[in-house]
Amino acid sequence: MMADTGSSVLVEKEFPKSEKKKTSYDVIIIGAGPAGYTAGIYCSRAKYDTLILSGILPGGQLVNTTEVENYPGFENGIMGPDLMMIIRKQTERMGTTIIDDEVVNVDFRHKPFKILTASEEYECRAVIIATGASPRKLGLEGEMTFGGRGVSYCATCDGPFFRNQELAVVGGGDSAIEEATFLTKFASKVHLVHRRDTLKASKIMQERAFANSKIQFHWDSEVVEIIGEQKVNGVTIKNLKNNQKTSLPVGGIFVAIGHTPNTKIFEKQVELDSQGYVVLKNHTRTSVEGVFAAGDVHDHRYRQAITAAGFGCMAAIDVDRYLTENK
Ligand code: NAP
Repeated sequence: MMADTGSSVLVEKEFPKSEKKKTSYDVIIIGAGPAGYTAGIYCSRAKYDTLILSGILPGGQLVNTTEVENYPGFENGIMGPDLMMIIRKQTERMGTTIIDDEVVNVDFRHKPFKILTASEEYECRAVIIATGASPRKLGLEGEMTFGGRGVSYCATCDGPFFRNQELAVVGGGDSAIEEATFLTKFASKVHLVHRRDTLKASKIMQERAFANSKIQFHWDSEVVEIIGEQKVNGVTIKNLKNNQKTSLPVGGIFVAIGHTPNTKIFEKQVELDSQGYVVLKNHTRTSVEGVFAAGDVHDHRYRQAITAAGFGCMAAIDVDRYLTENK
């Protein structure tokens, strides 16, 4: 269930009519997940005039999550949207300006850097890209209906909520195999549903999964329906070779078919790898001097809120060094 995020913080700050809107900052952070907010806290505390352009749906992936149990500091866990709202308020209290506007274009070729939203052009001396990555979706209606109620994109985050239940994992890459193996710690059985008859995952991970008696493989199959009432209580899979449909009595489905980094606007501006992730050089620096990146937009290995927050801190410290050296 999504928490009430409170309208006051989701509306762009109003400026008095006579006052010209401020558009020039020391640091602009693009993105408002754990990485972006943490970078804001550190930049503002270092006395830099800092703006976060949060996008239309601030908070990142955690606003689509229910309970978060693995973020330190919350003894009894916390709802994902509530966690993001607390971090946002903390960031604002440190002095960061946050505007809920979407960046549509950037120009990092000249300094000051230019950042364009639908309604404004901003400029700054340093940029932190913290736009995150989006998990790929199957495109089934049930993914929307049961988001946070049995449909998950992160086993590390949600696995412990499914003790002694049967679960489905979709995918055939390293993520799917890693998640399926991890989930066997909690689940009574894990159904691995893959659309081919071979896995893409590394051999060692495959061997581990094949040796795990709790994992049942469903080859050449795809999930065609997610079933449930208040929450998921099953999925229907279809064998792509004989079209036979089978119901699996699962309490949850973990979709692990890859992520798409949110880097479309940075193509041709900073170096991206073959999958579109920002390439880092020398800690959090990108290929453009003065442009830094933090969180899932470059990190496809850890992908946790706490690691993204850590990267946000690191990028802000690197920005401080860069701005100090380039007065
Ligand atoms: P990935 O390697 O791109 O694999 C995605 C898997 O999902 C593929 O098996 C693909 O099937 C399947 N898939 C894609 N779209 C689908 C759809 N619409 N319906 C059903 N299945 C679909 O993604 P990943 O596993 O997330 O890994 C991403 C990168 O992170 C890789 O480089 C990986 O090695 C790395 N990684 C490493 C580790 C580790 O070393 N511990 C752990 C996780 C990830 P097809 O083959 O048919 O396209």
